[in-house]
Amino acid sequence: MTTTRELGLPSISPQQGLPDEVEIWEVAPRDGLQAEKTLLNVDTKVELIERLARAGAPVIEVGSFVRADRVPQMADSAEVFQRVKDLSPRTPVLVPNMRGYELALAAGATDIAVFLSVTESFSEANLGAPRERMEPIVEAVVERAAIDGVRVRGYLSMVFGDPWEGHVDTAEVVRLATAMRSWGIADLSLGDTIGVATPGQVKQTLRALVGAGIPISSLALHMHDTYGMALANVYAGLEEGVRIFDAAAAGVGGCPFANSATGNLATDDLVWMLTGLGIQTGIDPDALTETSAWLSQALGKPTTSRVARSLTR
Ligand code: MG
Repeated sequence: MTTTRELGLPSISPQQGLPDEVEIWEVAPRDGLQAEKTLLNVDTKVELIERLARAGAPVIEVGSFVRADRVPQMADSAEVFQRVKDLSPRTPVLVPNMRGYELALAAGATDIAVFLSVTESFSEANLGAPRERMEPIVEAVVERAAIDGVRVRGYLSMVFGDPWEGHVDTAEVVRLATAMRSWGIADLSLGDTIGVATPGQVKQTLRALVGAGIPISSLALHMHDTYGMALANVYAGLEEGVRIFDAAAAGVGGCPFANSATGNLATDDLVWMLTGLGIQTGIDPDALTETSAWLSQALGKPTTSRVARSLTR
């Protein structure tokens, strides 16, 4: 496997109004792998996280304390977390409820993510309970985390469209985001779980949230590339002032409960675009490309990243 060096980086053309730097949340080891059928062992997951850390990823979501029978790929998250928690990047873990929280805390987690669905259908399908039951469960976790000094990010799923309900009402996004902020969650990630968002919709949703008093600095975008819109949506987010973007090396992942979903936005593609815009990420593109190729090989499937495909022979 060789990498073409002549075109290894894009030309750099900074644009007025865009930031000098953004933060990428690398989600391949958790959101990415949990949707992959090929189970990786603990050593391979630890190596993935170490490689991403060496590549310069500032935040790496490393695992999930969910039920092993529902998400087999995450059954060994406690062990993985133990082995990577002292790396220099932040290593948050996902917890669905108080049981998951207790397990994460016992493993030494100080940085967690919780999640809720904007739509009723996905709440039932993914969380196994209606929203009105899930919201107090997550609120209780957030209250406990505040007492324990644990940092919390909140994920909102199905922000821009739902496979069963279709259109998603922006007012519902604003309601849930406002509620999660009121519980004490500082940072929210807006998930386009099935990848149907378009740039104007992203702008309109962000403006509605900001209009409701939610600071743009607290919002991240989590885009999926199902319809090829992920980077356009990121650019729309950049123009609105978003500075945090989720992505997965090699574009691994998808959504285990939504048939139409393909992978996460590939970190490789995101870094290429941001590099071309002169926006710093702290990530070394060469190390990322190598990691991405290594991960694709470990999973035995081709990368979904157009950049990775172009750079790697
Ligand atoms: Mg995702």
